[in-house]
Amino acid sequence: MGRLIAISNRTAADPKARAGGLAVAVWESLKETGGSWFGWSGTLVDEPPRGANVFRDEGVEFVLTDLTHEEHEKYYLNYANRVIWPVFHYRLDLAAFNSEAFKVYSDVNQRIAGIVADRLQPGDTVWVHDYHFLLMGNALRHAGWEGPTGFFLHIPFPPPEMFRAIPEHHWLARAMCAYDVIGFQSSHDRANFVRYLVEQFDGEELGDDLIRVFGTTTRVAAYPIGIDPNGFRDAASTPQADRAAERISRFLGERHLVIGVDRMDYSKGLPQRFEAVGQLFDAHPEMDGKVSVTQIAPPSRSKVEEYQELRIELDRLAGRINGDHGDLDWIPLRYLARSYSREELAGLFRIARVGLVTPLRDGMNLVAKEFIMAQPEEDPGVLVLSEFAGAAEQLRDALIVNPHDKFKVAEAIYQALTMPLEERQTRWRKLRDVVESQDISWWRNRFLKDLKPAE
Ligand code: ADP
Repeated sequence: MGRLIAISNRTAADPKARAGGLAVAVWESLKETGGSWFGWSGTLVDEPPRGANVFRDEGVEFVLTDLTHEEHEKYYLNYANRVIWPVFHYRLDLAAFNSEAFKVYSDVNQRIAGIVADRLQPGDTVWVHDYHFLLMGNALRHAGWEGPTGFFLHIPFPPPEMFRAIPEHHWLARAMCAYDVIGFQSSHDRANFVRYLVEQFDGEELGDDLIRVFGTTTRVAAYPIGIDPNGFRDAASTPQADRAAERISRFLGERHLVIGVDRMDYSKGLPQRFEAVGQLFDAHPEMDGKVSVTQIAPPSRSKVEEYQELRIELDRLAGRINGDHGDLDWIPLRYLARSYSREELAGLFRIARVGLVTPLRDGMNLVAKEFIMAQPEEDPGVLVLSEFAGAAEQLRDALIVNPHDKFKVAEAIYQALTMPLEERQTRWRKLRDVVESQDISWWRNRFLKDLKPAE
């Protein structure tokens, strides 16, 4: 294979950003092929930038562009984060449609496509990531690039009835079909997109994941993203992990730990999760003083109002639950609005009896896979997983719940807390096998094989 060219809004130019699953997968592929990574530098400027900042690290070329304040406001904050993000997470009520922002979104896609096209060479393979660049494939074609170009969406894709609410939906879909391969996290997301193409534009399914629409043929398939399982298992036995486990154990005493780790985002179902925790203690007074629920959720995108409201809601719920159920020597629900290192998280997961991953709608939820890999085989914890997490299609041996049903979620947590060791081990081994076999390399190789079949 020739060079791999990755395009994503944020890159792993900063070595510290090479820890996450996606960053690792892309980074390794780029290193192997001596490829390039295009994206935003993270810097904001007043005047439209001329050219890009180009540098090399470990054989990988980074080509980064600054954004103007206006681009950042309209392309990133407005269109990507207040139109596409909410609608794609089924939250039409939170969308702030804005045609001016669409124009800037489109302009940024074209501007970056121009920078990329100037540097592409025959034999290159282009892999575009995520919802900031739905129009990038089309923009590259207009800039004259004809080589293989794929796109992977890391977030869900909504049902056509919701997607059609975006005033520019037909532009987005038409442009997306300029990609040779469009990858989704789950077969459910894929089915939503295919149904949209069939209903709206008479798309024709040709079998083998191919669909003919807009006079072209595109492969539309599900490629559930994985993690680096060994890396995470190793992270769980580092000194940093041990220290974190030890610190929380001092607080826990003999109590069982129930843990949730999320970015603070309305897609994660945190208020519903807190309600379910309240219900657990309402329905099972015998759990009083025996369990401690810790939710880690650092604020993200804090400029957006909804997140501030979410924070207030979580503080209110945690206050109520602790007021109703807590005691002099027991805090039932702790809520930590800060971030921890990957190793620290792995250490906390390792000693948790229950992991709560209960989003209302989410792309994959890598955190579910990380929780599994951090568990010790001799005494594994139990994963309570939302049926609306992308991971639910693969992780069938978790306790699968509807996150809107606080009674069922509370019962699932109770079931997890009281599950016999043998059942915990049987479920965990099956989950581990899935996470190990469908890992980040499996994901990358499947996508790239479809994008550029061996000649
Ligand atoms: P999303 O991409 O929507 O945030 P995922 O669960 O797929 O959700 O991925 C989240 C990643 O970020 C995981 O690798 C997880 O370990 C990490 N992460 C989530 N919350 C925190 C936190 N509070 N501190 C540090 N890392 C976190």
